[in-house]
Amino acid sequence: MKIGIMGGTFDPIHLGHLATAEAVRENFSLDEILFIPAARPPHKLGKKVSDEKHRLAMTILATQSNKFFRVSDMELKRTGLSYTLDTMNELQKNFGASAELFFIIGADSLADLNKWHAAKELVEKCHFIATTRPGADANFSAVKKFFGEAATKHIHRVTTPGLEISSTDIREKIRLGRSIKYLVPEAVEEYILREKIYDC
Ligand code: ATP
Ligand code: MG
Repeated sequence: MKIGIMGGTFDPIHLGHLATAEAVRENFSLDEILFIPAARPPHKLGKKVSDEKHRLAMTILATQSNKFFRVSDMELKRTGLSYTLDTMNELQKNFGASAELFFIIGADSLADLNKWHAAKELVEKCHFIATTRPGADANFSAVKKFFGEAATKHIHRVTTPGLEISSTDIREKIRLGRSIKYLVPEAVEEYILREKIYDC
């Protein structure tokens, strides 16, 4: 089994996440992609994040039409901060030692990877698939300088569709009463408007 892990706040999940995950799945012949909404992302502690029940519901709605996509609430159920190392260890235990796990990471997050909890241990133990993202410049030589050989062995780079979409931008559009059509799946758009998640 080869499994892709797509972690994120998903506040809300959008077509940038989905198109990236699908491209990675095909490119690396992965058996499935597991979307894992983060409970308390350490890098977003000062920021307001929407209720986890909404973020989980939107992630389920967004992924249900793809038979290769699944959603896990494992980070939401765990108490404390969401550390990727804990998640990867738990998944390896659940899937068994022969499963290959690939954590999908966008260029903007890759630039911060050195600041993640137990970053060096994480890159030594796990595979990463570094994707492209418009507006984010992945400085791979800086990544290599910090992580050394482990980066060459464990961080795989791939070019993914350049969709210039971000959750921040979507939240802002809703606040301004602007359209978010074609930025999120229709079912997610309906959910956001019905539940008034981002209204002031
Ligand atoms: P926010 O603006 O709230 O930070 P976001 O759009 O960056 O939201 P996250 O949930 O923070 O979404 O991102 C989760 C993962 O998805 C990260 O690895 C991020 O780099 C990646 N990602 C998000 N949007 C895109 C996109 N448009 N194209 C490629 N990767 C993306
Ligand atoms: Mg982000």
